[in-house]
Amino acid sequence: MKALSFQGVGDVKLVEVPKPSIKDSRDVLVKITLGAVCGSDLHAYHGHIPMNAGELLGHEFVGVVEEAGSEVRRFKPGDRVVASFYTSCGHCELCRKGWFNQCVSMQTFGFGEYQGGLGGGQAEYVVVPNADFSMEPIPDGMTDEKAIFVGDILSTGFFVADRAEIKPGDSVAVIGAGPVGLMATMCAQLFGPAKTFVVDMVDSRLEVAQELGGIPINSTHSHPVTAIEAQTGGLGADASLECVGAMAAVETAIHCVRGGGTVSVVGVPSAVTADFPFLHFWTKALTFRSGRCNVQRYMRPLLELIAAGRLQPDVIISHRMKLDQAEEAYRIFNAREATKIVLTP
Ligand SMILES: [Zn+2]
Ligand SMILES: [Zn+2]
Repeated sequence: MKALSFQGVGDVKLVEVPKPSIKDSRDVLVKITLGAVCGSDLHAYHGHIPMNAGELLGHEFVGVVEEAGSEVRRFKPGDRVVASFYTSCGHCELCRKGWFNQCVSMQTFGFGEYQGGLGGGQAEYVVVPNADFSMEPIPDGMTDEKAIFVGDILSTGFFVADRAEIKPGDSVAVIGAGPVGLMATMCAQLFGPAKTFVVDMVDSRLEVAQELGGIPINSTHSHPVTAIEAQTGGLGADASLECVGAMAAVETAIHCVRGGGTVSVVGVPSAVTADFPFLHFWTKALTFRSGRCNVQRYMRPLLELIAAGRLQPDVIISHRMKLDQAEEAYRIFNAREATKIVLTP
């Protein structure tokens, strides 16, 4: 089969590899019908995640079940499915508490041996281990493009909004208008804020954010904290939703929030440690939340919201390309010439 592989920093290549096969009775073999390129793929592309040459990429995908192991209960051949970007066992203590993102045997697709040695979603086929706890069936009539993002960026956008404790009438600030920031802007609306500020440096992204109900703030033209204070009676936003991971973005997220507010962070941190402004948090009685999205908990309700027409995550797709063009897709996504790219095998 054809699959996209990591070759070295800034170098990906479409290669021919053996079609994967089921090894465990809880595995499912999925024939991929649509994959996507994610911002976190760029962490691998830039060499920030340890990967060996030849390991397969991609962790956002939907497809059709081709074969299911004997212990798989929820899926059978022919079912259309969307997978979480990571697997969870469903049985460990943290899975049973609903914290699937803290599963003791979690493995992540498309990041090589270091993340569990799974295959990738930018390919023709992939094996999904622990399928009953790692995938959801796609509702009848829903397109692949509408369903695909519940496995990663839409769930992440919902997670950061859910944990920001947004109340009806609140002002919220989304930091970053990349794919996750746009999903966060969309999901924040479900909680009824009066104002949703969106901070970014790229006008084309801010235009999409505006279409989703955001108030754009271009941080190259105005200081985001000052701009948000000016539009909230000098107080700052009730909550901030950080969707970048760069330390400058986290700082903006911390300083644009009013006393008693919540700072909710999902961007993958660009640094291992940083100075935590402990006195600022104490003085302003702020709440700080962060973490990798609990995808498995949100996939089902988000599919219901999409089916009901309350969420249209596919509006952020800017480029529809073939898997054969994946090398070019990485180049333009890395150059920020594309908001979101989907790939058809
Ligand atoms: Zn991702
Ligand atoms: Zn578990």
